[in-house]
Amino acid sequence: SKSWTMVKHFEGAPKLEDFKLIEKELPPLKEGELLLESVFLSVDPYMRPYSKTSLKDGDVMMGSQVARVVESKNPAYQVGSYYVSYSGWTTHFISDGKGLRALPTDWPENLPRSLALGTVGMPGLTAYIGLLEICKAKQGDVVLVNCAAGAVGSVVGQIAKLKGCKVVGSTGSDAKVTYLKEIGFDEAFNYKTVSSLEEALKNASPEGYDCYFENVGGVFSDVALQQMKQFGRIAVCGAISMYNDSVPQTGPYVQPYFVFKQLRMEGFLILSWEDKPQYQEGQKQLLQWIVEGKLNFHEHITNGFENMPAGFIGMLSGDNIGKAVIKV
Ligand code: NDP
Repeated sequence: SKSWTMVKHFEGAPKLEDFKLIEKELPPLKEGELLLESVFLSVDPYMRPYSKTSLKDGDVMMGSQVARVVESKNPAYQVGSYYVSYSGWTTHFISDGKGLRALPTDWPENLPRSLALGTVGMPGLTAYIGLLEICKAKQGDVVLVNCAAGAVGSVVGQIAKLKGCKVVGSTGSDAKVTYLKEIGFDEAFNYKTVSSLEEALKNASPEGYDCYFENVGGVFSDVALQQMKQFGRIAVCGAISMYNDSVPQTGPYVQPYFVFKQLRMEGFLILSWEDKPQYQEGQKQLLQWIVEGKLNFHEHITNGFENMPAGFIGMLSGDNIGKAVIKV
């Protein structure tokens, strides 16, 4: 089995030399165990902040994969079946079945199984729950989302459109702006090239925003919060602009807007929704929308397990449209 380890804690943006490939032989299976082979692995922004709190130097990087059972001494798991597992950046691993999530049984043959890491997996459900349960977006609302062309943001915008909202997206390149228009965003802009973020937000929706799906944090957040309408709702999903900071950013301070505009802001972690009925409902719904052609999915595939660190670094710096995935 090959695995990628984090040599030492990242300083600033992760670099290729922060990762090391190790190889080890796995022991023979015991009764009740199964051997799985990773087919697709996920690279996600959370790996950057979580590495700080949950990894030691030299540990295998954390993360999830779609894996195929290649050997089984557990009658509940058939060779050839596929599961989503949270087993880290590794090609092969032994499991007793605990924590494995089967792909939905009605998974259409023509859909790539990698979608279980993206639009029909953790990021898609983050979009679904964050927009509908936390932001409580409803018909007629104006929704703002940043990281809009990414795994979560592109699904947020499309669900908002399906629910009858007006959607504004911020993203980091002109090609991504074009993509957002193609998948139905009403307005989209490149935050790297606009002369003023405040102007861009005002032009896109002069009347302001009812819902803000926050993925970026920092300065973007300070400006966006000032554009909220009365009783606006903010789902704090992520803060990717701050993940590489070693010193926390400070001010300007926007608390007065919360009072004047009577805003509601709520952070959430999709992990804590996994066993709630909304998660299963959401997964069914996302799959159905894809099958019906109502939900576009785009993946940014990096080929080869050996290129996993490069795929991770590329995703953090914005190479991806849609979900960034590694294909072994
Ligand atoms: P994406 O697919 O959106 O990939 C990350 C994107 O972040 C890049 O493509 C890049 O796009 C953008 N980015 C990188 N640096 C910056 C920066 N300094 N300022 C603005 N944008 C930047 O990732 P995900 O969709 O998987 O995740 C999006 C957000 O959702 C993250 O903040 C993540 O932590 C959060 N998240 C939270 C979860 C939860 O449970 N709360 C679960 C899953 C994700 P661009 O070209 O636009 O800059």
